[in-house]
Amino acid sequence: MAERVIPLIDQRVAALAARVPAQAIPTSGLLSDTLGRPLRDLRISVTDRCNFRCSYCMPKEVFNKDYPYLPHSALLTFEEITRVARQFVAHGVHKIRLTGGEPLLRKNLEVLIEQLAALRTPEGDPLDITLTTNGSLLERKAKSLKAAGLQRVTVSLDGLDDAVFRQMNDVDFPVAEVLKGIDAARDAGLGPIKVNMVVKRGTNEHEILPMARHFRGTGIVLRFIEYMDVGATNGWRMDEVLPSAEVVKLIAAQLPLIQLEPSAPGETAERWGYADGSGEIGVISSVTQAFCGDCNRARLSTEGQLYLCLFATQGHDLRSLVRGGASDEELASAIAQIWHGRGDRYSQLRSSMPPDSSTGKRRVEMSYIGG
Ligand code: SAM
Ligand code: SF4
Ligand code: SF4
Repeated sequence: MAERVIPLIDQRVAALAARVPAQAIPTSGLLSDTLGRPLRDLRISVTDRCNFRCSYCMPKEVFNKDYPYLPHSALLTFEEITRVARQFVAHGVHKIRLTGGEPLLRKNLEVLIEQLAALRTPEGDPLDITLTTNGSLLERKAKSLKAAGLQRVTVSLDGLDDAVFRQMNDVDFPVAEVLKGIDAARDAGLGPIKVNMVVKRGTNEHEILPMARHFRGTGIVLRFIEYMDVGATNGWRMDEVLPSAEVVKLIAAQLPLIQLEPSAPGETAERWGYADGSGEIGVISSVTQAFCGDCNRARLSTEGQLYLCLFATQGHDLRSLVRGGASDEELASAIAQIWHGRGDRYSQLRSSMPPDSSTGKRRVEMSYIGG
């Protein structure tokens, strides 16, 4: 087995300054980056903390009691998040996903959801607001999230076998609680619900079929995600990636599948429907099939750094503008300038990229930037 090197240095400080351009850039709703990609989807991380320690995301050895989580004063307040989000919406964002860390750990998250739900696109439409959660607090919170204006949720679940699940979350959390959370979300009307399963070869591939069978016919869309080389701490190895094509083959051998059209441009999941009409699954092939060509996603970290790619090594510091007295117009212009300069397409370049160790740069952790 390859030796596991676990870096312990905090790399989050290396943000780029966000500058206000000399000439204002108006909010036309039609921003475009250097590859002609629009800005449509904003993922907001509301906390860098989590009550799980999934080894592919927050391995225990690194995210222990000594880990330097952000102090409360570093976090954007709900008002600051909403103000930044408003500028993104003016630039064309119409979907907001709250994430983390575990977003339901952020106190009074419902207040933020209420504020975001009041935003309108330039055409006057409400936003599509969703949240990705590990489901552990969902049973308790589903109703209040719905009442605050959340439309739907995505729940991460890596298997149905209790022992496998407890091992993957690495805090001995029982699968039954997450399943109760999914039921509560459905009862509260937080749908359509998606369930995300990260597949690691040798760890939970035998859970693929039980998961498919369990969610088939429920209206819940199960999506299989290839284990990705995000961050710098999960000890990622290509031989632990199970290509989505194999997932589809495995399911189709038992439950025939038909490929479906993508639901929207920039959609990350390839859709497959059960031939008997009992629902659909998705596969997200971030490793074996890059979808950077129409990637329209921006990520706002917990402390207000704008990241242009999941695999970025540096963010752009919007918080200093927000707290430094910039006007809304200046903030929006700064965001536009950053997006205009975006050329990120990591997944397309993955195989030709030098290892982080040779560049001295380290990719940001997914628990910090949000999935
Ligand atoms: N804690 C929440 C959760 O788990 O749903 C939200 C944050 S989590 C970082 C967002 C998503 O990223 C989850 O679906 C998780 O499974 C996925 N994820 C984390 N690390 C990953 C990795 N190395 N490869 C693929 N997906 C990963
Ligand atoms: Fe926590 Fe989500 Fe990361 Fe698992 S994937 S450690 S639940 S943030
Ligand atoms: Fe988007 Fe970066 Fe992922 Fe490509 S690698 S799809 S640019 S987030």
